[in-house]
Amino acid sequence: MNLFNLRRTVPSLEDLAVEPYANASAPAFSNECLMPSVQRPQPVFVRGQGSWLWDSEDRTYLDFTQAGAANSLGHSPSVLVAALAEQAQSLINPGSGFYNRGMLKLADRLCRSTDSDQAYLLSSGTEACEAAIKLARKWGQLHRGGAAGIITASQSCHGRGFAALSAAGSGAPGNRFGPGLPGFSQVPFNDLPALHAAVDAQTVAIMLEPIQSEAGVIPATEHYLKGVERLCRELGILLILDEVQAGIGRCGTLLAEQLYGVRADIIALGKGLGGGVPLAALLARGKACCFEAGELDGTHHGNALMTSAGLAVLDSLQEHGFLQQARHNGEYLGQELTRLASRYAQGQVRGQGLFWGMTLADESADAVVKAALHEGLLLSAPQPDCLRFTPALSVSKGNIDEMLLRLARAFSRVRTAQLHCRKGVAV
Ligand code: PLP
Repeated sequence: MNLFNLRRTVPSLEDLAVEPYANASAPAFSNECLMPSVQRPQPVFVRGQGSWLWDSEDRTYLDFTQAGAANSLGHSPSVLVAALAEQAQSLINPGSGFYNRGMLKLADRLCRSTDSDQAYLLSSGTEACEAAIKLARKWGQLHRGGAAGIITASQSCHGRGFAALSAAGSGAPGNRFGPGLPGFSQVPFNDLPALHAAVDAQTVAIMLEPIQSEAGVIPATEHYLKGVERLCRELGILLILDEVQAGIGRCGTLLAEQLYGVRADIIALGKGLGGGVPLAALLARGKACCFEAGELDGTHHGNALMTSAGLAVLDSLQEHGFLQQARHNGEYLGQELTRLASRYAQGQVRGQGLFWGMTLADESADAVVKAALHEGLLLSAPQPDCLRFTPALSVSKGNIDEMLLRLARAFSRVRTAQLHCRKGVAV
């Protein structure tokens, strides 16, 4: 008899935290042809409304990820549906080489709303960050003797293109495919002396997220961001803020820089600007406005359909009381998460507006996310010991209370599983 066959595999904490789906039938859709580049759980989503999603088995989920904060107004908001339907009837994309009304209106609206001088429209946050880097380097050629060095913070995320990955440094997830591009260096976040020491004659810009998302929702301190702005002014280099995640109301103000009372030369926007459709923007101010015709282009840049979404999102966010309500609900979310963290002996709760992270007492974030999914709650884990909460900006207090109940049940599941693990129980 082969004794190895009798040995049972020891289940992981994540497996122990959930029981198999009740009455789980064979998946209705095959994933065989999809490249396995992203690890996804089993449900196949078919419908969404506000803070809620439904899968193909008609199970409901409360969504506190909202497509990584892209769905600023929640799932299928009526204003976005109406704007897209109306625009799709008349014009989808005349091509980036021609003007369309939405392109002109959105560029104008973004500049007026953010006190910027120029805007360029793109399709993803990665593209906006890469365009920001190109713009800074163009400025370096014109005004700093060809300086091209960009300093970023360790553990930053500026997207998944090669320049964006190089900006984030070798530790960035997905940065495993050979050497990065030259001209980027990283220093610890919230460390002004380290930043000061890293600047040299080759430096053209400092590029930062006001709140580091993938690092575990770590806000810049006001002292730090104001200090960085001052340093840039004193040394005559550019400040680039990557507000792809933190901008467009996510932190309770239209731009996160407003919270800090700073003013960047270049800003990258994305995610929430399209409310769930692919739309991003590059904003430039004053001396940084130095691109000329032919230096940026892309098939979908300024696409009429996508820009109609951007205008609908801005209309909602700029409605009287909308951001005030988001700030109010954000404070409630932060306060109640802190209470829950203390009840379950977890760590720190940090963030702004409706952008929060909770550090855990151990590296159980993936297990909590999995247990939460079984409780019908969608969360993300940017770090092994950190949960991230990015609900719709239109989330209600009722949604927040329901999320807290489901999260508490997920914590209990994981705690029970941890006890089983300690006792060495196999299931
Ligand atoms: N910058 C930040 C701060 C991000 O969080 C992300 C994506 O998560 C990006 C850039 C890249 O955006 P996208 O995924 O739209 O390319």
